[in-house]
Amino acid sequence: MSSASMFLEGLRLEPVHGSGDASGRLALGGKAARWEDAPSKSALEPATAQLLERLSALQDVFHADGRYALLIVFQGRDAAGKDGVIRTVCGAFNPTGVQVSAFGPPTALELRHDFLWRVHEVVPPRGVIGVFNRSHYEDVLAVRVRGLAPEDVWRARYDQINAFEQMLAENRVIIRKCFLHVSRDEQREQLQERLDDPTKNWKFRLDDLEDRARWDAYTEAYREALQRCSTEWAPWYVVPSDRKSVRNYLVARMLVETLESLPLTYPKMDDAVREAARDFK
Ligand code: AMP
Ligand code: MG
Repeated sequence: MSSASMFLEGLRLEPVHGSGDASGRLALGGKAARWEDAPSKSALEPATAQLLERLSALQDVFHADGRYALLIVFQGRDAAGKDGVIRTVCGAFNPTGVQVSAFGPPTALELRHDFLWRVHEVVPPRGVIGVFNRSHYEDVLAVRVRGLAPEDVWRARYDQINAFEQMLAENRVIIRKCFLHVSRDEQREQLQERLDDPTKNWKFRLDDLEDRARWDAYTEAYREALQRCSTEWAPWYVVPSDRKSVRNYLVARMLVETLESLPLTYPKMDDAVREAARDFK
């Protein structure tokens, strides 16, 4: 094994071990946004391309098998790369079997329902991969940090989320959740680019600045959400995302490993169909 491939061997995500355990505080500082000594972009990109090819083949059998749904949740601060990872990694999938949902501020109607109403509606059916660009976690993140609901309301949601995700998992929805973790410096660079590049101006919003000013409050909110809601049935992963090539590799690899862990098979042809097609030329 070359030293580059040996290094790649160790470059994989581990789920956050946290549910309810107050002893260890999850590391979410600037250092955790980088993978020290990760291979160069030129070493990672071909490895990621191979993973994406594998992912494409796995999705084919996943779709045909039809017994499971896969739900991939992407959370992260503004400019953390949610759109980028969806474009690159989920670009490997056949669009027929993928459903991407983005969550913005709830509408007036959505606010009159429980917070999971709009989420449950877009949970993927079996055979389909659902990708969430933000999610029900905003209801314990943005809502908490911006004070959009009283504390007793959002506090009750950690258990409600765990129960909801457990119910989905028991109904064969495989859930994987990625926190795209960028450092404060990297976010500044990305936001600066949005200001400088006229093709990216439209992505810049006033509330991006407000949320950046609440950096530490978001860190605390993410820490609690990840620790309380990383479960056996719906694990959270902290994805070091300051470097796009590292981020893409790690997410692609985690998804390959997830799909490979399922007993996927192509359905056998029905005997009656085979019989009827016996003389087919
Ligand atoms: P973006 O993903 O940058 O297009 O922005 C979507 C915005 O919607 C973010 O600022 C989120 O924090 C906000 N958002 C998403 N879900 C909720 C929610 N349930 N309550 C309040 N704000 C939300
Ligand atoms: Mg925003």
